[in-house]
Amino acid sequence: MYLKLRKHVSTRHVIQSLVAMIVVYIGITFVIFINQIANNSTSILNRPAGVEAFLPISALVGLKAWITTGSFDPVHPAGLVILLLALTLSLLLKRTFCSWICPIGTLSEGLANLGKRVFGRNFTIPNWLDYLLRSVKYLILFFFVLAIFFGMSGLDAAAFVQSPYNMVADIKMLKFMQHLTSVGTIVIGMIVVFSILYENFWCRYLCPYGGLLGLLSVLSPYKITRNRESCIQCGKCTKRCPNHILVDQASRVSSPECTGCLNCVQQCPSNDTLTFKSRLGLPALAVSILVISLLFIVSAKITGHWETNVTVEMYKQILPLVDQIGH
Ligand code: SF4
Ligand code: SF4
Repeated sequence: MYLKLRKHVSTRHVIQSLVAMIVVYIGITFVIFINQIANNSTSILNRPAGVEAFLPISALVGLKAWITTGSFDPVHPAGLVILLLALTLSLLLKRTFCSWICPIGTLSEGLANLGKRVFGRNFTIPNWLDYLLRSVKYLILFFFVLAIFFGMSGLDAAAFVQSPYNMVADIKMLKFMQHLTSVGTIVIGMIVVFSILYENFWCRYLCPYGGLLGLLSVLSPYKITRNRESCIQCGKCTKRCPNHILVDQASRVSSPECTGCLNCVQQCPSNDTLTFKSRLGLPALAVSILVISLLFIVSAKITGHWETNVTVEMYKQILPLVDQIGH
């Protein structure tokens, strides 16, 4: 059983690594695509639609436009599909999107592991400050939800989706990363340092996307469940939880912070005491995540809801104007 669980958890790492490789491939392909457009090359690579995963605000506006007008975002459809996938996974399988798929989550985990190697451990933030900081991601989420779902009409949202600003949002993001300002460098540098020192710093305190997925995940029928009878109260589960959840004191973990990483299950020395309760059984979790993800992406591709309607010719016209295009 223990070997089976070890195997299962390493399946998460395999999936994280695969997604990370796909993200690197998408990044490189997008840079080449933009360079080819800028240089007016005769042969131009296909724009990787997956780059839209990094436009979560655009996807939220796209969601509002879709709900209110019925029109599915034609400019960044893949971004909206990935948002819908993350929301669905959270409703069904807790925040597994964060711990199994999200490349920022993977990076965050890697930085925390680096911290453990360098300092022998990750540091902990005092409880009172931890509570305060955890509310930051909900405040950011509240601001976006308020601005998009209450401050914009459906027509405003649809107009934003079709706007030149949204059209070049992916290029602006690339330029931002390629020409980081000193403020951008300091902010990213601080997040990296804090992520090395404090496990899961970005996801736990700052990511509004994680906040949204966490709130939805409370409704998930799947929860980490502890068998009080067989628990030997060793506390290893709590010690290993990257989200500081007191697993050894809960019967069922309903916290929105639980990302379904299964670290606690892997650490538990007592057979069948901690389970990610589902009728499918543990090994099915990885399969479920893969099947649901593929289902979303393949259906979007088949039904024409994956590739942008912005043509190469349009990119050629708009690229020289990117710096002049504002909100
Ligand atoms: S409770 Fe278990 S599955 Fe949830 S975040 Fe903590 S270690 Fe991961
Ligand atoms: S690791 Fe397992 S046995 Fe130990 S406290 Fe947690 S649930 Fe109980």
